[in-house]
Amino acid sequence: MAVPRTYHLVTLGCPKNDVDSEHLERLLTGGELLPVIQPGDADAIIVNTCGFIEQSQEQSMEAVRELAATKREGQTLIVAGCMTQLYGRQVREENPAVDHVFGVGQWQDVAKLLSVDVDAVFDIPEGAAKVTGPSAYLKISDGCDAPCTFCVIPKIKGGLRSAPAGLLVREAQRLVAAGAKELVLVGQDTTAWGEDLGMPVAGGLPGLLEMLSEAVGPEVWLRLMYAYPSRVSDQLIETMARLPNVVHYLDVPLQHGSEAVLRRMKRPHNVEKVHAFVRQLRAAMPDVVLRTSFIAGFPGETEAEFQELLDFAKVIRFDHAGCFTYSRQQWTGAFEMADQVPDEIKHERRDRFMRQQQKIAARQAQRFVGRDLPMLVEGLGEDDDGDPVVAGRTYREAPEVDGLVIVRGAAEPGSRVLVHIDEASGYDLFGSVIR
Ligand code: SF4
Repeated sequence: MAVPRTYHLVTLGCPKNDVDSEHLERLLTGGELLPVIQPGDADAIIVNTCGFIEQSQEQSMEAVRELAATKREGQTLIVAGCMTQLYGRQVREENPAVDHVFGVGQWQDVAKLLSVDVDAVFDIPEGAAKVTGPSAYLKISDGCDAPCTFCVIPKIKGGLRSAPAGLLVREAQRLVAAGAKELVLVGQDTTAWGEDLGMPVAGGLPGLLEMLSEAVGPEVWLRLMYAYPSRVSDQLIETMARLPNVVHYLDVPLQHGSEAVLRRMKRPHNVEKVHAFVRQLRAAMPDVVLRTSFIAGFPGETEAEFQELLDFAKVIRFDHAGCFTYSRQQWTGAFEMADQVPDEIKHERRDRFMRQQQKIAARQAQRFVGRDLPMLVEGLGEDDDGDPVVAGRTYREAPEVDGLVIVRGAAEPGSRVLVHIDEASGYDLFGSVIR
């Protein structure tokens, strides 16, 4: 292979994969390779795949097939990441044009293959982050030790590995110096942070938030994604409520609302405890915004159990909730379970959940009408009359998952403005820039 000068990187999957790609890009650009927009212009094409559920695996396979089909002579095609960790041999067999396959966490090996002297490049292997407009992801850990029977992530990523606090503080300061106004903390389970470093169960994250809060100053938002329900502790709630820059927003994937299903999923199955911590969160932060996700059609899910999920979600009233159909994954505990639910029932239940959630989310959105909120500016545009409008996110919306707020007025992209919310429609908020 001739020494490559340019690369084209395709990233599939979740924000954690975005962070991994950012890490690879830092290595490649540090090694003086240039990114190019068109795959046809690149000496090396790299696909960072996703293997989370069947649908993401298929999307990754499709991307590889397309790039393999258009690959020209002299180009190197590299496939890496979560899907290849599980299905690397299949990727090679189906796509003879693929030159190299790597699993997860092998970004230094990819860079070395492309002639980068990785020892000479400034590198932060854990905690590397990505700036997206005014926000940046800060990956505080990777891997997971939980036994969830539907999830293949521990098989792909291995056990929990937390990034050291000192490194995360430095990385947070670097991102803020580069212009980030919000740091979004991600990991497979952010609330487990520090347990592999000897900290008590659920005891590390509040301390990390304190350190980050002090390091970045009161103006920079800290947002917590992917909390594990049994680790939402009194200490975490107290810390979130007290620190001035931890936004009153929590993403806790709960997966189901039926204790019997949660037991089969090997998830925390005391539903009353979830109600209790939600009450506690709302008492400590009356304006708290809650996001969650559920799975419809887990093996053995009866109509009565699904109804329990609907009732649970109706009582809690999540501001944002996603519902996925169960995806049968090899190498997981649920793969061999009896009573797999037919696809049409899974989809019907998912749709029924989303119809209910749409109404709940619309009612929840109404409580923001009349409020003045800081908003991070993501983009600018014009309305039908040619007047300027601004799209952005308040603390209520996490990047890439919760949509945007649209307001009348002008602003600088990437800046923070104060907006007045004067209308909520469906999931969305509308208003105008105050200053
Ligand atoms: S906690 Fe999340 S990443 Fe870990 S096994 Fe469960 S679902 Fe998968």
